[in-house]
Amino acid sequence: MQRLQQLANRLFLLSGFFVVTALGTSYGMLDEQQELFIPAIVKNYQQPNNLEASLLTILRDKETKTAEFRDAVNQLVPFMAARVFECLEMQSVTVATPVVQAYEGCRFTSRCALVPVVRSGEALVPGFQTYFKNAPVWHLLVQRDEKTAKARFIYSKLPKKINAQRKIIVLEPMIATGGSLSIVIKKLLKHGACQENIIIASFVAAPEGLQYLAEQFTGISVTVLSIDDRLNKKKYIEPGLGDFGDRFLGTDGSDED
Ligand code: URA
Repeated sequence: MQRLQQLANRLFLLSGFFVVTALGTSYGMLDEQQELFIPAIVKNYQQPNNLEASLLTILRDKETKTAEFRDAVNQLVPFMAARVFECLEMQSVTVATPVVQAYEGCRFTSRCALVPVVRSGEALVPGFQTYFKNAPVWHLLVQRDEKTAKARFIYSKLPKKINAQRKIIVLEPMIATGGSLSIVIKKLLKHGACQENIIIASFVAAPEGLQYLAEQFTGISVTVLSIDDRLNKKKYIEPGLGDFGDRFLGTDGSDED
């Protein structure tokens, strides 16, 4: 099944949209509005709602200064977390409300870990910690060579043996080529993580990066607020929002004294 899915992804890249209809929806789906093939690893994708779209516009606007950029990021995190929650199993729980004896609600009980991909992923840690209060934060540093756009592993602080049952939420605001995430996922798998329990949380992804990940990891889940148009020659996402890490951390020179 895994091989079949990889083959379907590859065929899609070679042959265009018609293969999708021929192979059905288990390999992905066609977003008619954007005329975009969305690999099956992408869960619950929908066009950004008005609030998400207006906050994303603030991030995309090159005139946005650091403080406003950070503010928009923090306001967007709950929307991102909501998509992640759609990938998690809920346990039903009965509570008494002030009005009725028994109300059947739900709660989340699985053990999670947050894995920010340093640097930009760290921007999302405080926001996600409001939902995953006891989750340990494991770090992975993968750096992209600005000239070649190739990702290189630098450092990790992971448990020696990851419990395969643990849900792992990888925080990576931008999925461009997918190169960094591929390294991150391979590291997590090597330490014992299970693909089915890895969820990537992103703001913006390029179709090329999603495709690259779908070809290698058919079991993971990716949640993303916007799938953009393409990568440019420098491997930046178009329309994108530029260098997320630089803009969030104020190291893009826009606020220099
Ligand atoms: N990383 C970013 O921050 N932005 C891009 O467009 C691509 C990779």
